[in-house]
Amino acid sequence: MEPYRYCPRCGASLQVLPHAGRDRDACITEGCGFVHWNNPLPVLAAVVEYEDKLLLARNAAWPEKMFALVTGFLERDETPELGVARELKEETNLDTESVSLIGVYEFMRKNELIIAYHVKATGTIELSEELAEYRLVAPEKVRIWSAGTGFAVADWLQARGYPVQFFDRQTGEDIPDPRRPTDFRRLDASLQ
Ligand SMILES: [Zn+2]
Repeated sequence: MEPYRYCPRCGASLQVLPHAGRDRDACITEGCGFVHWNNPLPVLAAVVEYEDKLLLARNAAWPEKMFALVTGFLERDETPELGVARELKEETNLDTESVSLIGVYEFMRKNELIIAYHVKATGTIELSEELAEYRLVAPEKVRIWSAGTGFAVADWLQARGYPVQFFDRQTGEDIPDPRRPTDFRRLDASLQ
């Protein structure tokens, strides 16, 4: 999200001010109280299982070899389970048979939080304009990109005993597993 420059409540300038221990864009007008918390947006991602393969899709705005999961923003007044089914229908025309949570993943680069589901889907694939093409890949052949939604694919494959092989999207070469265990001692340090 682009940063706000003016207060959406009163129109005054925003200034970087400390709030609850962090610098935030906050309104300078006395009594207005607007603070732009800039919390991450929840994004739904689908590891789509279709006819025993995983469906990977290429966004029309992406480079030619970049395939990933079907994703979309959670809408207001929508459960994430129905949201991911809606996104899948909108983008691929597939119907959702079942959804189960894989996990929740950071995507700090875009200030998003990824909520990833395994979606079993049926129907006939018809891509929306948002997607340029798709691939159906056997789970044992999936190579995983090292970023938010890739970690969801890795966890899904690993839980089912499939090989987990990450690759570098720039070079196309295999890389070691980039996932790191969470170090909660860092939290203690930042709260002191
Ligand atoms: Zn204001």
